[in-house]
Amino acid sequence: MSKFKVSIFGLLFILLLSIFLVSCESNKSPLYDLGVETELVDYTSKNMVSSLLPSRPDLTKVVHIFRKSPVRSEKSRGNSGSANTPDYKLTGVKWANGGIYYVQPRADLDLNSVFANAFQTWNYAEPNAPVFSDSNTPILPEGALYGLNVDRVNTISFGDLSGYGRDALAVTQYVYYTSSKEIIEFDQVYSAAEAWTVYPVTSEDYIPGGDIGPFDLPDIATHEHGHIFGLSDLYNSRDKYLTMYGYASAGETLKRTLGNGDILGIQKIY
Ligand SMILES: [Zn+2]
Repeated sequence: MSKFKVSIFGLLFILLLSIFLVSCESNKSPLYDLGVETELVDYTSKNMVSSLLPSRPDLTKVVHIFRKSPVRSEKSRGNSGSANTPDYKLTGVKWANGGIYYVQPRADLDLNSVFANAFQTWNYAEPNAPVFSDSNTPILPEGALYGLNVDRVNTISFGDLSGYGRDALAVTQYVYYTSSKEIIEFDQVYSAAEAWTVYPVTSEDYIPGGDIGPFDLPDIATHEHGHIFGLSDLYNSRDKYLTMYGYASAGETLKRTLGNGDILGIQKIY
């Protein structure tokens, strides 16, 4: 009888321990780290930063920073992995509805088609995902601004990202209701210091560490749009053929096409 009691207590202890460990694990997610003040955020050490808006505690702001990776470390990743890898990571927030976005024009590139195509790539993979439509005018509603501002207007622009740490290539910011986790606004800024281009064809060949020529805007835009929909970066080298892989080589066009994990991820959310 006493042996039986001991084993019951043993089981109970293990059960409580696992509940404790599971709750510790879920607290690690930076999205739920709501105590961080915007002013204290260290953009140099983190690629995803979440903060409560001091003036609006019902809103949380998240910033995803895409940094250029050193050529050497990209080369050392080897040739493992494929676009069939089923990996994805969710941010835990999503849209109830899509909306309109504004694109700040550039003389040298047809930005509107680049960003619209990048959205379509995701909508094609999951028709229930929210639809975002180009405003067809760069003129913002009164009071709104291009850049990473919280003004309830979705914008895409090119600007100075030196405040976001070393080698920031692009930043996607979104704002969501802290309680319901519904996203209500996004802004994207691509580094104006970077030479961007739109390569004419989607190359099937990917040479890790190739790093030839400027970055492909559709490549990075498709990745950044993934953050808008609710997907997080992947950093495991086996995921390097997926759109949500957190590094990119100059000259690659690989992220224009979704991999298995990207498709499974957006389908999981919507
Ligand atoms: Zn990213």
